[in-house]
Amino acid sequence: MDRYVYDFAEGGRDRADLLGGKGANLAEMVRMGLPVPPGFTVTTEACRVFLATGAPPPELDQEIAEHLERLERAAGRRLGQVDDPLLLSVRSGARFSMPGMMETILDIGLNDYAVLGLAKTPARERFAWDSYRRLVQMFGTTVMGVDGALFEDVLTRIEHQHHVVDDAHLDTCDLIRIVETYKDIIRERTGEDFPQDPHEQLRRAVLAVFGSWNAERARVYRRREHIPDDLGTAVNIQTMVFGNRGADSGSGVAFTRDPATGRPGVYGDYLPDAQGEDVVSGTRDAVPLQELERLDPASYEKLCGHLQRLEEHYRDLCDIEFTIEQGRLWMLQTRVGKRTAQAAFGIAGQLVDEGLISLDEALERVSGEGLARLMFPSFDTSDAEEPLTRGVPASPGAAVGAAVFDSAEAGRRAAAGERVVLVRPETTPDDLPGMVAAQAVLTSRGGKTSHAAVVARGMGKVCVCGAEGLVVDPRGRRCTAGGVTVEEGTVLSVDGTEGRVYLGEVPLVDSVVMRYFEGGGRLPEEAGEEDVEQVVRDVHRLMERADAVRRLEVRANADTPEDAARARRFGARGIGLCRTEHMFLGERRGYVETMILAAGDAEREAALAELLPLQRRDFVGILEAMDGLPVTIRLLDPPLHEFLPDAVELAVRVAREEAVGREPDARDTALLAAVTRMHEENPMLGLRGVRLGLVVPGLVAMQVRAVAEAVVERVRAGGSPRAQIMVPLVGAAAELHLVRDEVERVLAQVSEESGVAVDCPVGTMIELPRAALTAGRIARDADFFSFGTNDLTQTTWGFSRDDVEAAFFPAYLEKGVFETSPFETIDRDGVGRLVELAVAEGRAARPDLEVGVCGEHGGDPESVRFFHGAGLDYVSCSPFRLPVARLEAGRAALRGVSGSDTR
Ligand code: ADP
Ligand code: MG
Ligand code: MG
Repeated sequence: MDRYVYDFAEGGRDRADLLGGKGANLAEMVRMGLPVPPGFTVTTEACRVFLATGAPPPELDQEIAEHLERLERAAGRRLGQVDDPLLLSVRSGARFSMPGMMETILDIGLNDYAVLGLAKTPARERFAWDSYRRLVQMFGTTVMGVDGALFEDVLTRIEHQHHVVDDAHLDTCDLIRIVETYKDIIRERTGEDFPQDPHEQLRRAVLAVFGSWNAERARVYRRREHIPDDLGTAVNIQTMVFGNRGADSGSGVAFTRDPATGRPGVYGDYLPDAQGEDVVSGTRDAVPLQELERLDPASYEKLCGHLQRLEEHYRDLCDIEFTIEQGRLWMLQTRVGKRTAQAAFGIAGQLVDEGLISLDEALERVSGEGLARLMFPSFDTSDAEEPLTRGVPASPGAAVGAAVFDSAEAGRRAAAGERVVLVRPETTPDDLPGMVAAQAVLTSRGGKTSHAAVVARGMGKVCVCGAEGLVVDPRGRRCTAGGVTVEEGTVLSVDGTEGRVYLGEVPLVDSVVMRYFEGGGRLPEEAGEEDVEQVVRDVHRLMERADAVRRLEVRANADTPEDAARARRFGARGIGLCRTEHMFLGERRGYVETMILAAGDAEREAALAELLPLQRRDFVGILEAMDGLPVTIRLLDPPLHEFLPDAVELAVRVAREEAVGREPDARDTALLAAVTRMHEENPMLGLRGVRLGLVVPGLVAMQVRAVAEAVVERVRAGGSPRAQIMVPLVGAAAELHLVRDEVERVLAQVSEESGVAVDCPVGTMIELPRAALTAGRIARDADFFSFGTNDLTQTTWGFSRDDVEAAFFPAYLEKGVFETSPFETIDRDGVGRLVELAVAEGRAARPDLEVGVCGEHGGDPESVRFFHGAGLDYVSCSPFRLPVARLEAGRAALRGVSGSDTR
């Protein structure tokens, strides 16, 4: 880096890395010829030196001095001169906007003499002292570290004495008194005088802005927004203009269109006789921008002209800050403005219609995260009260229902047509029926990737986890939070988007976008303008485009015909993961128990034979719902003891009988023995997946036969079933080879028996590091790979999701070990490399190998972008996340084409 300071005239919006967003955009406005107070920018590089070494680069003082001199020459005024001095603002401005997170100091250059020079005429006295008061206050808090409340107290006290409500009504004498008091406070608190030397003020202000990069609130903000901690901020040093010079002055903020709804038309706030930060601080009530048209029509017209030029130039919604000094308009800031999800889709569509951007650019302007937000109903919380509790916003949306504390009650009430909220300390697979029945799930433990959260997201249910201070008492059928007791049946409103829970019913606003997808993602033919909401049209248009440009195919994770049907409506081109474990639950558990307890082959085969027709029926339904499209069926994966009753419950039952001298139930005793025998310290790493298939005789054969016979049935019914058989948890090529032999044997048998040629591709999940590392060998026996990124993440990191989320993820996120949970967004550097390696070696061994992903990551926007880049054929995710995956796959395909930044 050859230098650390750039004049505004040298920069431009493409240099935001170096100049920060604010500096780059100020420079851009200068280039456009808009009225910007002159100034220069100290680069983020200088800040990085400061952050790394604790001191600014040695050359910096000199460079600032040179630029300042140039500024002074052009202005014909000098910093600190007694007669009408030059004043400066020192403004933070990082690469990504962090509104209000870092410091800005206005009116640098005033001191006990310069304030008199600024006043010059009696008419300007009040303005001069007001400015000095602001400087001493801002400098005292920001640079010298004095508690801001001390200054505020003084101000309030004097305002009270005068019975005025805000500082606009204080006269010069008051302001002089306040400045003196402020200076006393600074001396008392810091043992140092407020610096009278303007150059010292400037130097220290710059360092304070550098330092504010690491202020607590800035760090917190960065973590939430995933902004890297090592970027640093630029500092903009700019000539002051004054909105606090009377009625013909003022300052305001404006948007080129409404950032909440996307509606066109300027939009903003204006505050007469005020300096910039007054507008946002809310100390005084601003007026709508339209009011300016009446107050100062000339400035208003100019402003509208600038807004339009900015929007045409940036080709996007811009948000700006401006100040009017005695009828003269100055532009102080612009940037591409933040907006709600609805506005993002709306504005993108409008800009296409206006010819400012192409449809592909429009697609890049929206995001999967935003689409997800549009799909969930939301609360109208405009006048909602304080929440009962807050927790992790685990699955977005809004739901209302009566509190219930177990699965059975949830089922009972739901069957009677009641809406319920399932409240549990945490959830387990046993709570599944209750979760299905409930509108929302609320837990007191766990985080974003806890069982409750993952399952709820998969089902599109609202979920708040780890709620603060919530104590759940399932036996007593009640919970308490913040001193309030919630009995069973009490109505709760759960906001999974914000992570809040309210007592009582908060009104809901339904999602029209969700209704659109549920209806198959089509606009009604010949619908008039008024029949379809604008947001649906906006979404539809971009979905169509995304589908047209994407290379990644999307499939769904679906285990039932209903899910399969919904998946089709939501745009799935097949099922990427059909789990079979739920087919072993419910009343079928008995057969599974018998199979496990079987004394010999005959008994086991009998139990398996009972399961066969039930499984076949399941598969027929799913193949029918997905007719013509691939359905990837995974062989049984979880450890068998998961299907057995709880060990403690059994032990209690047996002990109770024994205690009263009765012989315990023989089956209970046998089950207890089996449960004890099968106990595993680490079930996740135990007897599961392909291992089960290799040691439990007949299990694979039964499942494959059920699939094959279902295929035959569908063919006979005139369908085109396309079942694929997927083997889980393979770590060695030999495992897959053995299972494949058995699969082929059964397929051949069924083909022969039925006379229908059953030909199912056989493939494997890649979910162990060893599988990824030996993918070339495994591919010889695999027609396809499907990355099970949940297990692959667990086994690559060596931690189990359910254990680590509550235990240390919060600390890891806090300490920045990772920015997001690797269970939410694929860990590119570790897990991602394994994926890339396996794709490369798998395809090298077998060029026609089909490769997809079926982990939770398949519906995560950021991960979808990665999978596109890794060359996968498809992503598979829960039905509700399909639209997001489709949209992001489309965006990924466009990425790099226009090279734009999508943050
Ligand atoms: P933030 O990033 O928090 O918005 P800014 O650097 O934009 O901080 O400054 C805070 C306020 O001070 C804004 O309202 C801005 O318009 C105002 N301001 C900044 N520089 C000047 C200046 N040179 N003249 C007048 N007002 C200014
Ligand atoms: Mg600003
Ligand atoms: Mg797995």
